[in-house]
Amino acid sequence: MVRRSQAQANVAEADTPSSGKRRKVEQQKEGIARPSQDGQPAADTFQPRHDHLWFSDGNVVVAAKGMNFKMHAGILSWNSGVFKVLLDGAQADGGGAETWEGCRVLRVEDDGTSLAELFMVLYDGGRSGFFDWKKSIELFHLREITLLALRYKIQHIVDEAVARLEHLFPTTFTPDRLGVNSFIEGIEDFPVSIVDVEHLVAVIDLARRIDSENPPAFIATALYHCVNLNVRYLFDVIPFDGGAVALSPADRDLCLAKADSMLLYGYVVRQPVTGALEKPLCPNKTCHAALQSVVCKWIRTKAFMDYCPLAAVSVDLEQPSPDHPDRKICKGCKTGLQDAIEQQQRQVFEGLGKLFKISTWPAPIQA
Ligand SMILES: [Zn+2]
Repeated sequence: MVRRSQAQANVAEADTPSSGKRRKVEQQKEGIARPSQDGQPAADTFQPRHDHLWFSDGNVVVAAKGMNFKMHAGILSWNSGVFKVLLDGAQADGGGAETWEGCRVLRVEDDGTSLAELFMVLYDGGRSGFFDWKKSIELFHLREITLLALRYKIQHIVDEAVARLEHLFPTTFTPDRLGVNSFIEGIEDFPVSIVDVEHLVAVIDLARRIDSENPPAFIATALYHCVNLNVRYLFDVIPFDGGAVALSPADRDLCLAKADSMLLYGYVVRQPVTGALEKPLCPNKTCHAALQSVVCKWIRTKAFMDYCPLAAVSVDLEQPSPDHPDRKICKGCKTGLQDAIEQQQRQVFEGLGKLFKISTWPAPIQA
């Protein structure tokens, strides 16, 4: 009994040394069950068993909800600090630990199907494609594995999920990946496929679950897109993968509060063009008329009232207005204005961390 208590203390200690007791309670809530059943033999024979993840030379039976696995303790411990603590605890229990046919038994409350996905990534990440960027992963799937990896503290899987999401929500200024809803375009080529625009909420939720106080930096770009989301998605509970996700009240308030900043930035990034109407950059009257057409188009299409200052604004300088195909911006003005717009957008982008209070954002945050 003393030994068992010590093993439990070890579990808590490995999680957060300063709050062992609290963590232990949380751990029970989260359903990471203790391996020991006080030496009682298993009442069942661990059915159903996973087709592949039941190794004849395995030495630990992991009994999850609806599925059982016969795994290798060394591999689980090597990948996961939590498994290590649980398995070391089982060992420390000596004769007190539950065993079955010479294998240690670890009972967990996780869904067996989800846990199988995690084990497949641990055992054969390549074949399941988790570490192969040529294979796109659906957000549902990525989230399912990442949440389990967080629970079992498997950092390299969490890091991989972050790297994939950073491709859709860049943390360095990448204009071609900052268009309106650019995160759901190009599903084939993207390392994560997001089916519906409102699933952005699940991305933000995942970032907060990875670290609520200091979330991975890509959350700033995700929050930027979220400002442009239909406002009902900020308040609704979004159906997702058989469950539901919603923005936290704090993130919702952040998105609502920053909408006016986005409107302002929309004007700021277009300012080089509107400014050129007041102070012409060249004496060419046709060039000036072409710039007038561009600004007219922005007014007509309410471009000054959108929340996407990082969208491809410069592209409007490329095409002459359909109403006035003869009006073209001269080459020198076009290049100069496109550079000026990009400079403004870069500044807006670099300020996203400060705007959304994301301490991990790579650009410097000025006080
Ligand atoms: Zn010009």
